[in-house]
Amino acid sequence: MHEGQGLPAIGGDPAREYRLGIMGGTFDPIHYGHLVTAERAREALGLDLVLFMPAGTPAFKLDQKVTSAEDRYAMTLLATATNPLFDASRFEIDREGTTYTVDTLRALRAHYPDNVKLFFITGADAIMDILAWHDAEGLASLTTFIAATRPGYDIVRAQEIVEASGIDFDVRYIEIPALAISSTSIRELVRDGKSVRYLTATAVEGYIRKMGLYRAEDIERVEGAVGQ
Ligand code: NAP
Repeated sequence: MHEGQGLPAIGGDPAREYRLGIMGGTFDPIHYGHLVTAERAREALGLDLVLFMPAGTPAFKLDQKVTSAEDRYAMTLLATATNPLFDASRFEIDREGTTYTVDTLRALRAHYPDNVKLFFITGADAIMDILAWHDAEGLASLTTFIAATRPGYDIVRAQEIVEASGIDFDVRYIEIPALAISSTSIRELVRDGKSVRYLTATAVEGYIRKMGLYRAEDIERVEGAVGQ
């Protein structure tokens, strides 16, 4: 299934268009809200494959302690393993330095033939951050954005931010009730010795317990670290 740079083979038939979803996130940990988001996006946009891509050193999180990339990738692999239309990628975690989405999308655009269209899926707030930073015009030409929102999210405000940029971004919004689950709440539940059953895949829950992730000392912010 995988070819160069650890990326899945897609785009083989030049006579047709392929749609590749790139599911970007820190995934610390991955949970059912993420999985439902990917499934809804896949159906809504007719994606051939959704590639879950844990961020290596996430931009905007340089002042926070983030679980090791290997653990976040392992959990992502476990959570996606049973769905043949989902895949997990080491692409960003194997790259040096801070993760910028525009760099990833450029590399994917260079890697895949033109008949593969790219759709970058992530939380709506994260998308607003991405659009505000790092070569916004370049981003607009590379991908359609799929912005996942929790119920009650102010989409009008988000649209205003996008329009104010003056750049022709293609952003589709999808409301995901299951995003009431958050990675933060899962980390806090584990820290407090509570159950996270039914919030994430059983295998992920088992991995968290087995590796001793999210114990109290692990989720404290790193004091004095300098953010971006
Ligand atoms: P974040 O700020 O931690 O997340 C913002 C919100 O979106 C949170 O509520 C989060 O919930 C949710 N979210 C995150 N990923 C999601 C996903 N794939 N599907 C649905 N909801 C999601 O965001 P982040 O994890 O650091 O970054 C998300 C993606 O944007 C990553 O690929 C990151 O590299 C990229 N990003 C790039 C830049 C840049 O290039 N300058 C800047 C910011 C983010 P949970 O906490 O429950 O996930």
